[in-house]
Amino acid sequence: MNRIRRALISVSDKTGILELATELSRQGVEIVSTGGTQRALSEGGIPVIGVSELTGFPEILDGRVKTLHPRIHAGLLAVRDNEGHTRQLEERKISLFDLVVVNLYPFEQTVAQPEVRFEEAIENIDIGGPSMVRAAAKNHRYVTVLVDPDDYGKVLEQVKGGEVNEETRRRLAAKAFRHTAAYDAHIARFMSEQTDEPYPEKLTVTFEKVQDLRYGENPHQPAAFYRQSPATSGSVATAEQLHGKELSYNNINDANAALEIVSDFDAPTAVAVKHMNPCGVGTGTNLAEAYQKAYEADSVSIFGGIIAVNRVVDVETARRMKDIFLEIVMAPDFEPGALEVLKAKKNLRLLRIGKQDQGKPSRKGVSVRGGLLVQGEDRKQVTREDCEVVTRRKPSEEEWAQLLFAWKVVKHVKSNAIVLARDNRTVGVGAGQMNRVGSARIAIEQAGESSEGSVLSSDAFFPMKDTVEAAAEAGITAIIQPGGSIRDRESIEEADKHGIAMVFTGTRHFKH
Ligand code: 5GP
Repeated sequence: MNRIRRALISVSDKTGILELATELSRQGVEIVSTGGTQRALSEGGIPVIGVSELTGFPEILDGRVKTLHPRIHAGLLAVRDNEGHTRQLEERKISLFDLVVVNLYPFEQTVAQPEVRFEEAIENIDIGGPSMVRAAAKNHRYVTVLVDPDDYGKVLEQVKGGEVNEETRRRLAAKAFRHTAAYDAHIARFMSEQTDEPYPEKLTVTFEKVQDLRYGENPHQPAAFYRQSPATSGSVATAEQLHGKELSYNNINDANAALEIVSDFDAPTAVAVKHMNPCGVGTGTNLAEAYQKAYEADSVSIFGGIIAVNRVVDVETARRMKDIFLEIVMAPDFEPGALEVLKAKKNLRLLRIGKQDQGKPSRKGVSVRGGLLVQGEDRKQVTREDCEVVTRRKPSEEEWAQLLFAWKVVKHVKSNAIVLARDNRTVGVGAGQMNRVGSARIAIEQAGESSEGSVLSSDAFFPMKDTVEAAAEAGITAIIQPGGSIRDRESIEEADKHGIAMVFTGTRHFKH
């Protein structure tokens, strides 16, 4: 019989604990608790024995040592049909525990705060709690362990019925080990991020399901969306959907791409994304102007596009957005009037992202069959000082501004990537071609007359001078690219021949 006679309760999250303890007490269960929990229960009028009374030892070291005592752990770990164990407990007057209710210091919530101090994080590593949870779970043949308030009701019912059955004890024990494993995984991740070893031998990362998706990239592929735990604030995974149809797999992927681009810009900026590539990026003195530029950048492709902006959406911007069919608008927030305007479109998904907290660069993974490729995020930013002018003509001030703008965008375009820009907006984007000049030709064709007087950025060096030739023919006046090809000389000579200013960044932005 697994009757519950004695319970050990030590919880940080005190949700539901008074109700549970009241009912246990009513069932004649003796309750033992740690400091804070004891206070909460006593205030609720529940008879409770303090751990210190039991151990004859005070809680010391600011709570670091409360329950780490043989009187507690022997009471949890004893094998009850083992005569030796029973005799030893009798000799030392140690009583058994039949139920353990523990939840741990809120480590995950602590480190999710934007500017948590390292010492505070460390203090929130629970030591005694996991020890009790693991001891009880190991000895689940005799002991019931509760780590989640959601399970209190079920167990109470069984307590009232006389005993907690074996199946329940086993399930709760498995859950307890999942709980401590996830808890340690959070600690391991946080600690690894503080060191130079972000790629440990074994990766233990937890993801929690946000939602099942109707399907994946195509209707015959099942799919779901998971959020990494702890979650990164200001991300697609933590966005709040204010309006519109349910998000699809492709929506989420595109939304993430748009958000990554817009977060590289400080000035008011709007980004339109189609199939993971930007089709229009515009920067202005205000958001309405920025959006207008992103729209005009490619008024064909933006149809059915995904928009991310880095300012609160105002009514003026919302009115302009309303004029065309868009899948998603994402913003830090929306003015109430803007929300009203956009909500008139039944299917338009509106996502409130909140403040984007870029934090430290994190790991990015892509799955390959049988494995996972992991790398750090591409957070590299190039400034004018990082660049080397390699042609006879130096860029003008305006060209410099446009070159750096085009460079920020090209980083986010699938390789081989070529971006043409003018007046703080893209005018042509060539993405994902298998040769560089092919991407250049697409960008130039798309820009049409706007290529005249525009600047060109390239995510990687020119293996031949053909891209410079194409640029000269289109009337492009300045080029930014990493440099580093054995044929750089030919490209520089070609640029000089046409009076094009060219700068090398020394940095490459492949995105495959
Ligand atoms: P209370 O609020 O009751 O004072 O503390 C409850 C919390 O203390 C629980 O989250 C429990 O996991 C944790 N805890 C219990 N015993 C120990 C211990 O010996 N050391 C540490 N660090 N935490 C403990």
